[in-house]
Amino acid sequence: MLTRTFFAAFALATALSTQAQDAKSVIAAASKAMGVEGLNSIRYYGVAQNGNLGQNNNSNQPWPMAGANDYVRAIDFTQPASRATWVNYAVPVTGGAATQTPGQQVITPENMAWAQQLEIWITPWGFLKGAAANNGTLQASAAGGKPYRVVTFNSPVKSPGGRPYRVVGYISAQNLVEKVQTWLENPVFSDMLVEADYSHYRDGANGLKFPAQIVQKRGGWPTFTAYILGAHANPANLQQLLTPPAPAGRGGAGAPPAPAAAGPTSEKLADGVYRINGAYNSLAIEFADHILLFEPGPQNEARAQAIIAEAKKVIPNKPLRYGVISHHHFDHASGLPAVVAEGITIVTPAVNRAFLMKALSAPRTLAPDSLSKSGKKPVIEAITGDKRVFQDASRTFEVHLIKGLPHADGLVIGYLPKEKILVYADMFNLPTAAQPVPDPPVIGTMVFLDNIERLKLEPERIMSIHSLNPDRLTNLADIKASLGRK
Ligand SMILES: [Zn+2]
Repeated sequence: MLTRTFFAAFALATALSTQAQDAKSVIAAASKAMGVEGLNSIRYYGVAQNGNLGQNNNSNQPWPMAGANDYVRAIDFTQPASRATWVNYAVPVTGGAATQTPGQQVITPENMAWAQQLEIWITPWGFLKGAAANNGTLQASAAGGKPYRVVTFNSPVKSPGGRPYRVVGYISAQNLVEKVQTWLENPVFSDMLVEADYSHYRDGANGLKFPAQIVQKRGGWPTFTAYILGAHANPANLQQLLTPPAPAGRGGAGAPPAPAAAGPTSEKLADGVYRINGAYNSLAIEFADHILLFEPGPQNEARAQAIIAEAKKVIPNKPLRYGVISHHHFDHASGLPAVVAEGITIVTPAVNRAFLMKALSAPRTLAPDSLSKSGKKPVIEAITGDKRVFQDASRTFEVHLIKGLPHADGLVIGYLPKEKILVYADMFNLPTAAQPVPDPPVIGTMVFLDNIERLKLEPERIMSIHSLNPDRLTNLADIKASLGRK
C-alpha cells in the first residue's frame, strides 16, 4: 500500500514537472530534434495542389484544388523572406481545355502583411524560430488522441485592428512540430483559422527533419496540400531562389496604361430600376415602400457601401429591405458584412444559408469592420423552392434558381417580367472577335440558355453582374450567337 502510494505520488510529481517544463526547453528540444539549430534558410520541393478559397461549387463543400507541379519553396528566416514557384495545370471553371500556367508567391521583408508572412511562420522550422524569438508559452494538450506540448506566441506583426497575430504549434512526444495554427482576417470568414498539419517526417541532410506531407486548411478545407520530396538546409543558391526573374517583355519605354475613365455611377434602366455601375454591377429595384438590391455585396466592404449609398441616392427615402445574392462565391459575397450592417435581409437559396450565417456571425476581432461596429446579426432568408417572387401593386421581381450549372449550386438570376430585364452572374461573357463562337462551347452559357428556355423568360435586355468587354447590356441574340445558334 505504502509502495503503491509512493509510486502514485512519484508519477504525479513527474507529470507535474513535465507540465511545468518551461516553454524554452520544449522549443530548444524540438529545435535540436528537427535540425533547426544553425538553420538560417531552407529549400524544399515536391508535388502540390493549391485550393481556391471561396470558389467552391457548393458552399458546404471543399475548395476546388488545382495541381501545382514542380513546387519549390525557399525561405530565408533571417530577413524574413520567401519565394515559392510552381506550375499550375487546371481546367477553367467554365469548362474547356486545361491550361498550364506558372505561379509564384514572393514574400519580402517590406511586405509584413500577415497573409504573406504567415507562410514563413507556420512552417515547422519557422514556427520554432518564431516561438524562440517571441517568448512562446507552454500548455499540455491533446489532439486526435495524442498528447502534445502546445506552444503559443504572438507575432510582432499587428492586424488592421491592432492585435498581434497568434501562432499556436503542437509539438509531439518525438519533438516534432505536427500542427501549427494562426488566424487571418477574411471579409467573409472574419477571424479565419489557418491550420497546417505536418506528418510523415523524414530525415534530410545534416539532421534536418522535414514532413513528407503538408496539408494547410483555411475556412475548414484544404487550400494547399503537398507531398514534399526533399528539403535542404542553408542552400548555397538562396539569393537566386528568392529572386523572381525579370518580367518578360517589359522594355520600360512604354507609358503605363491610362486608368479607365470613371463611368457614371448608375444608369436608369426603367422607372424605379437602376443599374449601379462598377466592375461588379448591382441592380436596385424600387418597390412601394422599400428597395431591393440584386447583388448587394460584391468585392469588398467599400464596394457594398458605395452600392448602398447610390441606391439610396437614386431611390430616396425608402429603406433597403432585401439583398438577393447571385451566388456565394467570395468575389460576390465579400461585401456582405456591410449589407448586414445596413440591416438588409440577405436572400439566397437554402443551400447557402447555414454557411453564410456561421461566417457572418463569427467574431471579427483582427479587422473590425462596419458589421462588428454595428453589433448587428445577419438576417438571411432561405429560398426553399426554385423560385421567390417579390411583388407589390407597383412591381414584380422574380428570382429563379439555375439548374444543372457546374459553376455553383444555389446560383440565381433575377427577372423583371414587365420591364423584360434579366440579371445574372458568371454564365455568359461576350466572345472575342477572334472567336465569336467559342469551341468548345462555354458550358455555363449553354446552361444559362437552357434555363431561360425552361422558364419561358422573354428578356429584351440582359444585365451581367460582371461588367462585360465592351461594357453593355446584352440580349438573347448575343447569347444564342455565342453558341452558334439563331
Ligand atoms: Zn462565381
